[in-house]
Amino acid sequence: MLENIRIILVSTSHTGNIGSTARAMKTMGLSSLYLVNPVHEPDGQASALAAGAGDVLANAKIVNTLEEAVSDCGLVVGTSARSRTHSWPMLGPRECGEKLVQEVSNFPVALVFGRENSGLSNEELQQCHFHMCIPANPEYSSLNLAAAVQTLCYEIRMAYLNKEALPTAEDTYPLNEDLERFYTHLESTLESTSFIRKSHPGVVMTKLRRLFNRARPESQELNILRGILASIDKSVKADNALTCDSNEDKENN
Ligand code: SAH
Repeated sequence: MLENIRIILVSTSHTGNIGSTARAMKTMGLSSLYLVNPVHEPDGQASALAAGAGDVLANAKIVNTLEEAVSDCGLVVGTSARSRTHSWPMLGPRECGEKLVQEVSNFPVALVFGRENSGLSNEELQQCHFHMCIPANPEYSSLNLAAAVQTLCYEIRMAYLNKEALPTAEDTYPLNEDLERFYTHLESTLESTSFIRKSHPGVVMTKLRRLFNRARPESQELNILRGILASIDKSVKADNALTCDSNEDKENN
């Protein structure tokens, strides 16, 4: 169960933090570490700080984008030292640990940590279903990256040890890759109706992604949305065929 709770570090600068993260994870029973485009790949410094968690470090997966790291996950939580977007569903560390443990029986789940100097970008935060902020000292709320990982891994462990007391997750949610397929379909349908133009997509798709990520449609709801898009595609096609026919008629007359 804990092996399906993924810790993702995005563009980490200091390899020591990668090593300390591996140690923080292993002490709490976690083992799945993903590194998105790290500034430097794990080195001697990382190994030294990983200490007895060299196996977690050695098995870390390095990928190019956050999208790749979360494509097979059904729940993605982004962490931020500041709760900058109040428009996003927020979790506290305790709730976050509980939610990850509750939902991990259905699919892999992920907790995403940002860069030491600038955290996660807005675009990266938008790929998450929830945001999590450790309610630290408001005058100095930014923890060291590995210390933030340790705090959350501890909460995950507490939730895991107490899992019998947690209600089971009943709703089933789509994986991120299914959501991505939906966004691609939505974009192409909106282009076919001329609601957006291919060359000038503007901010509409970004806003729609935000909307759907925030609403977190269940699998069945996503199927309904896909069905709606398919029905629009069909009627656009029929309309286009009619227009072609009438143009041909005009040319023939
Ligand atoms: N200057 C950055 C801080 C980055 S700290 C900023 O303002 O966003 C590096 C990472 O540690 C953050 O991206 C986040 O993943 C984690 N982190 C640090 N402090 C945190 C806090 N109080 N709550 C949640 N995550 C925190």
